[in-house]
Amino acid sequence: MKNLSILGSTGSIGRNTLEVVSRNPDRFRVSALAARNNIELLESQINIFRPEIVAVYEDDAAEELRRKGLPVEIVSGEAGLITAATYDKSNMVVSSIVGSPGLVPTFEAIKAGKDIALATKEALVMAGKIVMAEASRQGVKILPVDSEHSAVFQCLHGRSMDEVRKVILTASGGPFRKRNPSDLCSVTPAEALKHPNWEMGRKITIDSATLMNKGLEVIEARWLFDLPVEKIGVIIHPQSIVHSMVEFIDSSIIAQLSLPDMKGPISYALSYPERCNDVLPSLNLAEIKELTFEDPDRERYPSLDLTFRALKEGGTMPCVFNAANEVAVDAFLEEKILFTDITRIVSKTMDSHKTSKYETIDEVVEVSEWAKLMANKLIMEKVKL
Ligand code: MG
Repeated sequence: MKNLSILGSTGSIGRNTLEVVSRNPDRFRVSALAARNNIELLESQINIFRPEIVAVYEDDAAEELRRKGLPVEIVSGEAGLITAATYDKSNMVVSSIVGSPGLVPTFEAIKAGKDIALATKEALVMAGKIVMAEASRQGVKILPVDSEHSAVFQCLHGRSMDEVRKVILTASGGPFRKRNPSDLCSVTPAEALKHPNWEMGRKITIDSATLMNKGLEVIEARWLFDLPVEKIGVIIHPQSIVHSMVEFIDSSIIAQLSLPDMKGPISYALSYPERCNDVLPSLNLAEIKELTFEDPDRERYPSLDLTFRALKEGGTMPCVFNAANEVAVDAFLEEKILFTDITRIVSKTMDSHKTSKYETIDEVVEVSEWAKLMANKLIMEKVKL
């Protein structure tokens, strides 16, 4: 029986994880839940899954939940998230808090020796070097929940990394794959939030439209599989059926295919090295008929050049890349900037940063906060982008 702490239980990954748990009550139990402020959903999750600890990030929301008198210990703030992440009865932590706030609780969970089912790719983007080093020191497994990394992980199963020539991450290309690049400045948040294949949270859906999500995934793959950047490629695959591929030194390619549903990679991370029964409906390739691939257009997706620049400069630059993007995506959703300004803000913020090496999580968090302030400043000054 695996006892789970689910960080981000009210988000898209958290809800899908709980669905996987409820279908497999003999395998998984929920011992702790954590969320930002969605009290209503948390209350129903508490009633169904009966965790012992619930962390609510926002103090007011925690107080409101306490007043309901539920049979559970309620903790709050970042300290509360860490309590849920390190709870001694949990042996696995599902890390699915959106964005940079997920770093510290994930790192604390690793330090406490918990295996991690990782959806919060930002933990590796921001601090991959020390997160992976700590995981190896503690002997904990970092199991990818991101569909692409789950695919690569499944393709690599039992293989030596010496045999890998290239990891090829697939990207749907988002809703603007066919839009004229010169028209992208006028797209609205509502249009950008309409992902063609996946149902996901708002932040990651915008990141899929800019391909920033793929950029973050390239950096995640670099750390997760200890790959040099030259060995990571991106290909557009609009059907989102092939979730990623590995090319081996004999030019043989192994790919992982399934319907685009996060319950697939979540189940694999939770049950690894076993597989769960009947996670998704069978994939009917005869019905799908066509799987197509194309190289990404660098003009349409400037985020890719920024990604490889961030990786090449290394150190704290990927953290700046991520933090500036978080701020820019919020500003776009609030209609303060244009869609095409997102990557411009990221690029300008990176220009203002001289990359440096880092040794601690505190240093990384400090750089992230600096980059958010800088990106906000650029937005407020309405700098000539
Ligand atoms: Mg993904």
